[in-house]
Order: sequence, then C-alpha cells, then structure tokens
Amino acid sequence: MTRAGVLGSIITAGTVAMAAVPYAAQQPAATGPNVAQIEKVKDNLYMITGGGGNTAAYITANGVVLVDTKLANWGQAILDKVRTVSDKPITHIINTHTHGDHVGSNEFFDPKVEIVAQENTAANMAKMPAFADASKKHGLSDRTFKDKHTVLGGNDAIDLYYFGPAHTNGDAFVVFRNLRVMHAGDAFSGPNNPIMDTNNGGTGVGYPGTLAKAAAGIKGVDTVIPGHAAVTTWQAFVDYGEFMKSFVDSVSAAAKAGKTADQALAEFKPAEKFKDYNLTRAKANIETIYKEVGK
Ligand SMILES: [Zn+2]
Ligand SMILES: [Zn+2]
Repeated sequence: MTRAGVLGSIITAGTVAMAAVPYAAQQPAATGPNVAQIEKVKDNLYMITGGGGNTAAYITANGVVLVDTKLANWGQAILDKVRTVSDKPITHIINTHTHGDHVGSNEFFDPKVEIVAQENTAANMAKMPAFADASKKHGLSDRTFKDKHTVLGGNDAIDLYYFGPAHTNGDAFVVFRNLRVMHAGDAFSGPNNPIMDTNNGGTGVGYPGTLAKAAAGIKGVDTVIPGHAAVTTWQAFVDYGEFMKSFVDSVSAAAKAGKTADQALAEFKPAEKFKDYNLTRAKANIETIYKEVGK
C-alpha cells in the first residue's frame, strides 16, 4: 500500500469512529436510568414523552390519573416527572390499548392503583407474556367498559369512549371533559399511516368508519394528544379521519379493479393538506386491506 493509501485508510477509519460517537450518545445507556420529558398541555394536565407512547398525567382533587405507561422499565421515569408537578398519589391508570409501549410499566405502580381499559384491551392484555408471571398480574385491568365509561366526576370527570376496531379492537378515546382535551391513543398515533394490528383485532377496512364515529360522537374537545406525536387540535384529528377515508377508499377501489398492491400504492394521491404526512406504512396498510378484502 502506498503512503497515501495508508493515510487514506486511517482517515476513513477515523471518520467512522467519530461518526459513531454522537450516535451512541443519543441512545439511552443500557444500564442507566430512563429519562422522560414533561410538558403542560392545559391547566392540571401534562404530557410525558419518551419511552414509547405519550403518557398523560391528570392532576385531580385526590390524586393523579395516568393514561398509558410506556414501555417496560419506564415507571420510575414517569413517576419522577409526575413528582415535578404534584406530590399526590397515583390513583388510576387508563390504558388506551394493549401494546407494550402503552401498558409496559403498569406493573411498576402500586397494586391499589385502579387500571381501566376497554374490555377487548383487557382481554388482549391478559394474553401478553409480560403479564404472565403472578408477580406482574396486578398490571392487568381492574375495571373494563364496553362503549362508554366515566372515571371520577365533577371537574375531574374523564370520559372513555369505544367506537369499534381500528389500530386494535380495543382502542379507547380518553376525554378530559373539563379541559376539552382528548388522548387518542394509537387510533391517531400522529399524521401518518397507522399500524393496523390485525393480531389484536385491528382493521384497515374498518379504520375510517371508527374514526368517523369518534369524530361525530365525541363533543367538546379542542385539543388532542396523539399516541406518538406532538399535541395538536381537534380539527387535526377530524382531518386524520378524512385522510384515512381517502386512503382506504382509494386502496379498496384498486383492489376491486384487480390492481396489485404496488399499483394501489402508486395510485394513492393524498390531498394537498396531507402533504406532510408520513406514508412509510402505506404499503403495509395496503397489504392488510388487501388481505381483509380477500385479494
Ligand atoms: Zn404506540
Ligand atoms: Zn399501539
């Protein structure tokens, strides 16, 4: 090897090593504590981010109600952030759906905490290996509901709604009535093609219908916490329903016309107002819809 060649190799190796350092620095240390972030949504309602789905922390007269508990091993990080805004005990956990990035740290909290979920979600959770051990079972649901349930009352009232399958077959919409805020879970994870978890009863074909029922059936909300994105408006949630309808209509028409999944993907042209949507999961969604319609 020439001297220039050797030098070139050293520089190349050095560049790779330097590039690796900031990447590694972004990853949470395997043995270190998980650190979440907290932001105020409105008055006595906060959103805690990091470690999976968005957690809501609602400070009520007698305690703190959490919506979703992120991945496993994030319980202390959630509690640490709650303690920066309240010293009240955690009284309730509401789970929007069964996924491990939303129920993962249920078991961290005191067994006396009441865990509430839609009945299909409760059944899905009961099948999760994460809760199989006897020492973890207190992380399963204590109270379930079918279509509608209200947790607490008066100014603290939290209305839970279920309108049918979408992301899973147990997606709860959680409305902090007095604050006009809704936690949408992963039925509206953000401005993107969603995960359609058919293994947990989710659906592509039925997704827009469920969103339409939610948009029509829930009143008095102006602010929405998506499952995995920044706080947004009720109108953004309504628009999401429109996006999903246009997507599923387009794909269903392509399937009916005997087109391939790739053709269906090429033919879907989202409206201008959805130009910033992340369509990474469009192909996977199309495959799910094609399976559902028997193509
Ligand atoms: Zn999620
Ligand atoms: Zn999910």
